[in-house]
Amino acid sequence: MDCCAHEGPDAGDARFDVKKVADGVWAAVAAPAYKVNCNTAIIEHDDGVMVVDTHSKPSAARVIVKRLRELTSKPVRYVVNTHFHWDHWHGNEVYPAAYPGAEIVTNQITREAMVRRGLKRIQDHVRGAPAEIARLRADLAAAAPAQRARLERDLRLAEAYQAEVTALKPALPTIAFERTMTLYRRDREIQLLHLGRAHTEGDVFVYLPREKVVVTGDALIGWTPYMGDGYPEDWAATLDRLARLDFTHIVMGHGDVADRAWLDTFRAYVRDMVEAVRREAATGATLGEVTQRLTAALAPTYEKPFSVYGEYRPWRAGLAANVERTFAMVG
Ligand SMILES: [Zn+2]
Repeated sequence: MDCCAHEGPDAGDARFDVKKVADGVWAAVAAPAYKVNCNTAIIEHDDGVMVVDTHSKPSAARVIVKRLRELTSKPVRYVVNTHFHWDHWHGNEVYPAAYPGAEIVTNQITREAMVRRGLKRIQDHVRGAPAEIARLRADLAAAAPAQRARLERDLRLAEAYQAEVTALKPALPTIAFERTMTLYRRDREIQLLHLGRAHTEGDVFVYLPREKVVVTGDALIGWTPYMGDGYPEDWAATLDRLARLDFTHIVMGHGDVADRAWLDTFRAYVRDMVEAVRREAATGATLGEVTQRLTAALAPTYEKPFSVYGEYRPWRAGLAANVERTFAMVG
């Protein structure tokens, strides 16, 4: 990356659309990427800045730091991690390096999950990278001309990611709270909340009551949720508690800034899916039968709203994974 230092950070596939959601509050909405990046919320306050979540790699967080410096000269004082998944905290190390004294904040459950599971997953990524690169090379060698450009790009991104994840210096949270934590600044109140289990055991929500903005992490996203570490049976009730808060703008973990109508759709999907799996499982149906029946039953309502990102995150594959996880938990 030294070669390109004069051009600023090497963005790779990390591209963000920075949108103002209130005075001094922005959402950096990540474009679809080969190595998925989460969104970042940027919250300016009287003497500093809070950022929420740091993407899948340090180079992506450096893109945000550069954009941030165009928005404000204030230093980042707080980095919040909404949960322990790699694409939300692998960029953490960038902030204390760029802003000495920056604190990284999450709740106890999430910090523990980072220590027990997140650190191990970094090693899994390091170990898995050569096989991924070999597979892309083989695909490229066998590819039709129309596929070559995409595969060449994916291969470059996989190699760049391997270099980054191998060199990662995981920066764990320096502050962990129990249930809630509130920052009272002169001009802003920032609440960090735990509303129950959903996408993970410890999901953190960031709520600005005065500006009516909430940041949800992956408990609410713009495509079909990932439930692999989640609690499908608790999820909708957690979103019920979220819905009781007063807000107009939602900065989600992935996808564009949303309104309350999307929360309603997403919550209804989770509730309908879980209830249908429970009902079908009680009849003794197999996983294959349940998946087939639910796809037919839910597609008319949910396929279109959950297909905004098309082939990047296809709804039917997401639903099948959700059904499998839920089926295993209710069975
Ligand atoms: Zn996640």
